[in-house]
Amino acid sequence: MEKPKNHKLKEGSEEEVSLDFGPCCACEKEDPTVRNVLLLPRKAPVPGTGWGCAVCNLPPDGLVCVICDDCLKEKKQPRFAILDLATKKLRIPMEQISTEPFDHDIQAHKMWDLISQPAKGEG
Ligand SMILES: [Zn+2]
Ligand SMILES: [Zn+2]
Repeated sequence: MEKPKNHKLKEGSEEEVSLDFGPCCACEKEDPTVRNVLLLPRKAPVPGTGWGCAVCNLPPDGLVCVICDDCLKEKKQPRFAILDLATKKLRIPMEQISTEPFDHDIQAHKMWDLISQPAKGEG
C-alpha cells in the first residue's frame, strides 16, 4: 500500500484561498487579504458579470466590489467597483456606476422564507 507523497500541513487549518481579485476597491492595496466580496444593490457596468439571485430571479448583473480585511473591519466605503469579470482585475470609479437600483425582490424572498424555514437557533 502506498501513501500519498505530498504531506499536507494540517496544523493551523487556515485555508489559503488562491483567488486573486486585484486591488482593494476601497484603499487600492493589493495583497492576499483582498478577498471580501461585496454585493451591492446597483447595476454592474457589464451585464452578466456580477451577482444574481436565484430566489427572486435576478440576472447576474449586480455590482460587485472586493475589499481587504482592514477595510471590511473599518467598514470603509469602496471607491471603485469591479468592471467586467473579477479575474480581469479591472476597476471602475463608483461615480461612473449607473444609479439604477438593482436589488432583491423582497416579496419573492418573503415567499421563499415561508417555504424554506430558517434552521437557525438563536444565540
Ligand atoms: Zn482596503
Ligand atoms: Zn433575491
